[in-house]
Order: sequence, then structure tokens, then C-alpha cells
Amino acid sequence: MSKRDYYDVLGVSNSATADEIKKNYRKLALKYHPDRNPDDKAAEASFKEASAAYEVLSDGQRRAQYDQFGHAAENMGGGGGNPFQGSGFGDIFGDVFSEFFGGSSRRPGSRGQPGADLTYNMDLTFEQAAFGYSTELVIPRMDLCDSCGGSGARSSKDIEVCPVCSGTGQQRIQQGFFSVSTTCSQCRGTGKLIKSPCPRCNGRGRVNIKKKLKVNIPAGINTGARVKLTGEGEAGSNGGRRGSLYLIINVLEHPIFERDDYDIHCKIPISITQAALGSDIEVPTLEGRARLTIPAGTQNGKIFRLKNKGIARLQRSGLGDLYIRIVVEIPTNLSRRQKELLEEFTAISKEDSSPMKKSFMAKLKDFLI
Ligand SMILES: [Zn+2]
Ligand SMILES: [Zn+2]
Repeated sequence: MSKRDYYDVLGVSNSATADEIKKNYRKLALKYHPDRNPDDKAAEASFKEASAAYEVLSDGQRRAQYDQFGHAAENMGGGGGNPFQGSGFGDIFGDVFSEFFGGSSRRPGSRGQPGADLTYNMDLTFEQAAFGYSTELVIPRMDLCDSCGGSGARSSKDIEVCPVCSGTGQQRIQQGFFSVSTTCSQCRGTGKLIKSPCPRCNGRGRVNIKKKLKVNIPAGINTGARVKLTGEGEAGSNGGRRGSLYLIINVLEHPIFERDDYDIHCKIPISITQAALGSDIEVPTLEGRARLTIPAGTQNGKIFRLKNKGIARLQRSGLGDLYIRIVVEIPTNLSRRQKELLEEFTAISKEDSSPMKKSFMAKLKDFLI
């Protein structure tokens, strides 16, 4: 009897995803389950056929071989074969349904685990955050051993398929009809045994390194931002993808500037005469000094906006603004002469020169009547 195509057996296309394959197999397995079809030889045959197809198509490597060579691939060695050895049938059935038992259907022997993500707290000065910053960081991390490429073996000849789990990394324990999988105790889930360990990493496959990384922090970044460096985390195991490195940004305080998103705020003290008479003052900006004209009669707390003197907007065009808040300083430690002049000033002052006071006194008069 010639064997049917495995994709036909599971009712999926050649390009089916792992999820589709698993879903269809589950459907068939439940349909032809011997518990539901007692003494039905045809159902049992269908159940076995579906399980055999799933065993191959659920394993990326064996699926690729099957795609290339068809059923002939199964006689090419490299494990696999009849899934019904030993426990009758339903060995891989346990794999698909193991979540019923709280187990894991993951097979570390055949599918790699991704490496851990790393985080690095990075302090930036106000200016570095505003203008962007390029630097080289030294990040300590676990990496694949460069001597053995992560295998942990002295050479490829020193790696054997684990005899206990036949390379699956999982041991099966029969519980009634189902089999529950646990991590193989012999190889601890790797599916491999190493005869002679790599001398550089002592067989761990990984070594601690200090990785130098060039990083470019974009202009406009702010506290709390995360900069992701894809693939710069720890190495995965068994061919799993690398984790990523996240730089967690903290922007340090500036002695005179305060940041509000992309705007900058700054307080500038001026004297009462500068405020009263008007003045050209020098103000700090991120790009250096700038002139600001204070008109005569400028009140305390007045805010001047310098457009586009703020911070570059992250991943957008344009800049924020710089806001200068005027603080009029009342003079202290006056000399006798200064006091005389101020008293003289008071004596000749008219109500009109203090419009706020004039208005307030008027309201106060109404209120106190
Ligand atoms: Zn090594
Ligand atoms: Zn094992």
C-alpha cells in the first residue's frame, strides 16, 4: 500500500503554518480517537496515519526533508520513524495534548529558546539628549562560546544524540492513555550528550564577554525612553534567536534649563531699573548666547518665547521653543544714597506709573465701604 501525502492526510496545503498543522491534527486525532471509535480498525488506521503525518510535519527539520524527498526521507536515518513504538500509539499525541496535564508541548531539543533581553540604564546630560549622542558602551553579557559555537563540545564528533530521549529532550511518562512529557533528566532537555567538553566554556556553550557597542542616541530623547538594540541581548540556546538590549534613558538635570517635552524653560533675573526702563539682555540658549529686548515696564513673571530654540522633536521635524521667564529682583542691602534716590523717586511718583496698584486700590476702596 502506497503512503498518502502527509499534507493530504492532515488536509492542509504545503505552505501551512505550524499552527494550522497542529490544529488540523488535533481535529483528526479527536475524530479518530480509539476511545470514541472502539473496535474500529479503519478509525485506528486513520488515527495512526494522522499521527505519523503530524510527527513529521510538526518538526521543522523533518518537514524540510519530507518536502524535498517525500516519504523516502524517513529512511534516511536521523531518528524519527515509527511513532507507535513501545507505547502502542499516541506518543506524539501526548505532545499536542499535553497542555491538558499542565505540561509543555515545547521541545527544547528541536526548537531553540530565545536569549534573554538585557537592559542598561544610561544617563545622558541635558545637551546629549537635546542634540543626540553617539558613544561606545561596554555591555557585559553571556554570549555563545566562540570556540565551540555554542555546542559546548570540543568538536562536532564529541556530540552524541542522547540515548535516553533519542534527541527529543523530553521523556515521556505514561499516564493512562495519554503520555506526559517531562524534560529529559539525562541531557536536561538539550537532546545531546557531550563526550568531551569544550575547554574554553567547560561545556556550557556560553561565556561571559564584554561587548563593545556603538550606540547612536537620537536627538530629542527624554527620560524614560527605551532604545532597542535588536539582537544585542543574550544568545539563545539551541539556535534560538538572540535577545535584545534596551537602553533605558535618564536625562540629568541642567543647572539653568528645565525641560518640558520639547520646550525649554529658563528663569532670568533682571533689576527693577531694567524692568522699568527697558533693556537689552543676554539670555542663554542651547546654541549659545542670544539677545532679548526687555521693553520698558516689563512686569515680574513675564514670559518671552524664543521660537525654535527648544529641543529637536524625536522622529519628527521641527524644534520646540525656549521660554524665558522674567524675575524682577527687588534690590537689597541698599546704600544711604540709593535709599535717598528711591525716596525721592517715591515722592515724585504719580499713580499712573503703577497701573496695577491703581486698579487694586480702586477695588479695595469699593470693598471696604
Ligand atoms: Zn565552548
Ligand atoms: Zn535526553
